[in-house]
Amino acid sequence: MKPFIVIAEDEQAVSELLRYNLEAEGYETAIANDGDEAMLLIDERIPDLMLLDWMLPKISGIEICRRVRTRQETANLPIIMLTARTEEADRIRGLETGADDYVTKPFSTNELMARVKAVLRRIRPALMDDRIEVGDIQIDRSTHSVMRGGKDIHLGPTEFRLLEYFAQHPGRVFSREQLLDGVWGSDVYVEARTVDVHIGRLRKALMSQGGNNPIRTVRSAGYSLRVD
Ligand code: CA
Repeated sequence: MKPFIVIAEDEQAVSELLRYNLEAEGYETAIANDGDEAMLLIDERIPDLMLLDWMLPKISGIEICRRVRTRQETANLPIIMLTARTEEADRIRGLETGADDYVTKPFSTNELMARVKAVLRRIRPALMDDRIEVGDIQIDRSTHSVMRGGKDIHLGPTEFRLLEYFAQHPGRVFSREQLLDGVWGSDVYVEARTVDVHIGRLRKALMSQGGNNPIRTVRSAGYSLRVD
């Protein structure tokens, strides 16, 4: 699964350059040309990171940052601000609003790529590393193997991807639609009920060697992986 990055930038030359470089590095991208589009994109699918232009039409970068931080499901979304402003006060304001890092325009593409990687590693280590550990569950993405409490767990490919997806966002509640988009992909037609079937299989497999039910059902909201 490629990390998904939203590029919120109204200068097309900049957004296209970013898209080109990020995709070459193996990321999936979507471009928002203004603040409204950025919020819509996030509503549709929460990205793994957002590159956010400070001076954005309709809703400013600062305001988007504030909104993203106040919503529970996006509170930890990594944000790198792109700013033409070099004044120290503005930088501080950007970081105070909740950006994780900022890059001043014009920036070197190599530097920005390095920042993206660094922020993802720091905030979302599970996305960048082969081994993910959540509670007593260990996932090895290079060998596609899963252990729980030291015992092997056998999962089908879809259950593996589901678990991997949950593990990248431990504790976060996902709706069936979000799981469909994240695990099956938005261009595949699968009924929402299919998600329940695979969740059931994943649960059963994870509990096959003992242990509590690690997947929480949140009434009318969806599912999440327990972190404790
Ligand atoms: Ca701008």
